[in-house]
Amino acid sequence: MRDIIAGELGGPTLFKDASKLSYDYVPERLPGREEEMAKLARAFRGLMQGGAGQHVLITGPVGTGKTALSKAFARDFRAVAKQQNVNIEYADVNCRRRSTEGAALLQILTHFDPRFPDRGFSNSEMLENLRKRLERLEAHLIVILDEADILLKKSGSDLIYNLTRFNEESSRAKYSVSIIMVSQVDARALLDEAAQSTFKRTNVIELPKYNAETLKPIIHDRVQLAFHQGVFREELEEMVADTADPYGDARYAIELLQKSGQLAEDAGREKVVPEDVRAAAAESHPFVTETKLRELDKHKALALLAISRVLKKSSAAFCTTGEAEERYALVCEEWGEKPRAHTQFWTFLKDLDSLGFIHTKRSGKGIIGTTTLISLPDIPAKVLEEKLLEILKAP
Ligand code: ADP
Ligand code: MG
Repeated sequence: MRDIIAGELGGPTLFKDASKLSYDYVPERLPGREEEMAKLARAFRGLMQGGAGQHVLITGPVGTGKTALSKAFARDFRAVAKQQNVNIEYADVNCRRRSTEGAALLQILTHFDPRFPDRGFSNSEMLENLRKRLERLEAHLIVILDEADILLKKSGSDLIYNLTRFNEESSRAKYSVSIIMVSQVDARALLDEAAQSTFKRTNVIELPKYNAETLKPIIHDRVQLAFHQGVFREELEEMVADTADPYGDARYAIELLQKSGQLAEDAGREKVVPEDVRAAAAESHPFVTETKLRELDKHKALALLAISRVLKKSSAAFCTTGEAEERYALVCEEWGEKPRAHTQFWTFLKDLDSLGFIHTKRSGKGIIGTTTLISLPDIPAKVLEEKLLEILKAP
């Protein structure tokens, strides 16, 4: 029977390995980021001699490889250190998902012990637990705080302050904690004074936007990894690079590869054709990317779906929060979810706003008192609805 199942699953596909196009895949090499990689290695060189923890900030616009660079660096640095008998551990924290000190600490501890209980420990207990582990392992820990600005805005500098303090307590530098802060904005501005002094100017790595030229080798590598030979012609790689050029965003380029490949496959073609790339570009949106939408938790996604539905039906550029909330209740019903309370709905709107999915503003006088108006930044409501439906899966 296995052959029957395998036969059904394993029909011909254009993809050799579609997972290489997934948003969380960290490639072996990062063309165009060699210098930045070297800079990181220099910054952390001291750890090899038992030096104290180092702190680095990586900034740059979306899709410039901040996340990929920090993860690839930690992964490879750990491997190189291991050959020299130095124990480097790294934990990466997505601060969009883990935006409080406690949630971030839990994530770090889970790296050491996947079954670490997710409640019942205070922050200071978790810090102590972490310190003991590092001491026992004689490990130098690198913590990647990805999208650190979100955590800093929400929860302040305590986490950073508390983690960097380890280095003062560690006797003879048997263990240490280093932090790589990753953020689109200069997150140092969000640190309080005590934490700010640890992030020195020399440790800032700024990633510039890509352009068609610099995107080409990135696209080429990914095509080799993800598609069977001959499926994605070189001419099309160039087309993808040109399409993504105005945004300088590698994530967008890779989404175009994935989408156009999928479109070709769905159409039963053996090769991707230019029309697939154009269709993929029409479907994709560089700012509200699928990967970002996937990071939303369910009720925020449902709230955003509600907003897109109200705006799709309306000829106005804005809807009111009241209209959005009413529709949100309907959407929840459709998905068999219990709508969250009014105050919670407001925090969804606030979060969606700060994440850039919606714009909110107070209405001027005239419209029924003052109310808050919601608009979508730069994506058609219909496109947003479709993307969300794909992610949320029809109920
Ligand atoms: P950011 O965190 O800056 O928004 P990411 O690190 O998520 O950007 O990069 C977006 C996508 O592009 C990811 O799939 C990543 O693997 C890929 N990418 C970015 N830069 C490179 C590069 N230099 N080489 C290969 N892939 C890259
Ligand atoms: Mg990122």
